[in-house]
Amino acid sequence: MNGTEFHYADISFVQSGYERRSLYRDRARYLQRCLDDGSARLVFVFDRKVGLRRTEGGFEAALLEPDTIPRGTRDALQAVYLGDYVSRPIFAILSDEHPESLLSLTTEPLLFFDLRQATSMLSPHAASLLGYALAMDYWHRTHRYCGRCGHETTSGTAGHMRSCTNADCGRRHFPRTDPAVIVLVHSETACLLGRKREWIDRRYSTIAGFVEPGETPEQAVYREVFEETGTEVEGIRYYASQPWPFPGSLMLGYFARAEPGEVSLYDNELQDARWFTRDEMSEWIPSGKLKLPSRISIAYRLVQKWFDHVGGTALDALNPDAP
Ligand SMILES: [Zn+2]
Repeated sequence: MNGTEFHYADISFVQSGYERRSLYRDRARYLQRCLDDGSARLVFVFDRKVGLRRTEGGFEAALLEPDTIPRGTRDALQAVYLGDYVSRPIFAILSDEHPESLLSLTTEPLLFFDLRQATSMLSPHAASLLGYALAMDYWHRTHRYCGRCGHETTSGTAGHMRSCTNADCGRRHFPRTDPAVIVLVHSETACLLGRKREWIDRRYSTIAGFVEPGETPEQAVYREVFEETGTEVEGIRYYASQPWPFPGSLMLGYFARAEPGEVSLYDNELQDARWFTRDEMSEWIPSGKLKLPSRISIAYRLVQKWFDHVGGTALDALNPDAP
């Protein structure tokens, strides 16, 4: 298996399908013209959900023409230029009001979905585009006030910067993403999975946590696994990454080795953590005694990569109907 091919074929939110065209973010007149002449398309984020449209076979990202929103209304909305997609400039409209109230009456209604649930219904490219829009929505919502002086900020550079309105401060804020590590700890025959209290019954997943200031991702892997399970790992190796817009992380996927042993939930972040042998997984996944994370997550792909590398029944085949 070609490693790179696997990463980009199977991990959600990775196949972008759009060009960011970051150099165009400063070209205000060009971007305004794209809206005015109707060549641009709009996608919508409202209440942390993304706007979709029904098709014959399912759903697709709703890409609306600019004039579905009257110009005066449109100019007052928070619009973020995402780049070019399907050869058109794309803007994300980040709305506090239900977009139905903004759109002209002749527009077909939009349906708003949680992207976690919608991703499996969308093309990988559309899911990535909407994930980008959702992450930008989160950043704008959490940066309305200046982190240095507390005054309001305003959006600029086509939604890719926020500036402090206090003349004595004037600090400019740029979109950030939070690096987090996610790791499958494994031996030859078993892997270590944990579960949080709030998850659905019997769901277990890989160990994860945020990278702290002053720390490398590998150090974070070692620390998180030890804090959450009392297990000391070795042979930490990077696998692949995934932008994760719930709400604004970059998941850095790792494998690490350890031998199955006693588990201690030192920091109490997990409700349970335990080792699962391949044989137990083969029996318990089909019976529902063990549930894995969603297929859209890199967590699932890490488990899959390890589980499938010895051959036999593939992980996907153990529970083909799982989300
Ligand atoms: Zn300020």
